[in-house]
Amino acid sequence: MKIFDILDRFDYTFAQAGLRGTWEEGSGLCPECKSSPSTKRVRPLVIYWEPGSDTLGDFTWIGTYVVITEVVMNALLSRFSGFEAGPVEMIQDPKLRPPKRITKRTKPRIWLPYAGPTLYEVWKTSWVSADLARSTIDLVNDCTTCGTKDYRVEGLEKYVPARDLRTGELFPRRIPRVSGAGIFVRDRDLGGASIFGVTQLRGPTLCTEQVKAFIEERQYTNVTFVEVGDVI
Ligand SMILES: [Zn+2]
Repeated sequence: MKIFDILDRFDYTFAQAGLRGTWEEGSGLCPECKSSPSTKRVRPLVIYWEPGSDTLGDFTWIGTYVVITEVVMNALLSRFSGFEAGPVEMIQDPKLRPPKRITKRTKPRIWLPYAGPTLYEVWKTSWVSADLARSTIDLVNDCTTCGTKDYRVEGLEKYVPARDLRTGELFPRRIPRVSGAGIFVRDRDLGGASIFGVTQLRGPTLCTEQVKAFIEERQYTNVTFVEVGDVI
């Protein structure tokens, strides 16, 4: 069974959001590796809306954090496990005032007080270790001061910017996953989870091919997938 990374589509027809303080304060940066080992993600996820669009996608991306509407969350929770609905809080610069009149020059954006569907973060509860003997995951930093380990993974499917030689336009060129490479996780470690994180890679939200098929069948907006590995 294949594993996919659930990813931002970078579709700017949908409203984009940014992140505000969502970590516990740590004791500062490690002098050796400059990471902040004692900071820990806390809930809620605090976001603000960017100007550009007032169209809410089924998926909204705050870096690698995945935010979805209540309808999508309930649909996923009814079928899959490995995650729960994390609260999302919205803030807005107090200097921002909704325009009295909407003109052609008014930049659309989602305004607070928020009147859209309730949003939730996909809060991963299942974290599994990749099978490091099979996976193409390399340790690139093993800090002797704070113990932080950073890993790099090679051979995943990806999209790179390329230029159409005829029209001159930029487009995303697909680079397929390298055969036999990627992230391998053991079925027994997953314990039935279909949406999960890998302990070596803090950011990505991974899923099985059933989750990908479910999301694609329902045509949820502003989400895409790349193939990153296998369940073994
Ligand atoms: Zn360190």
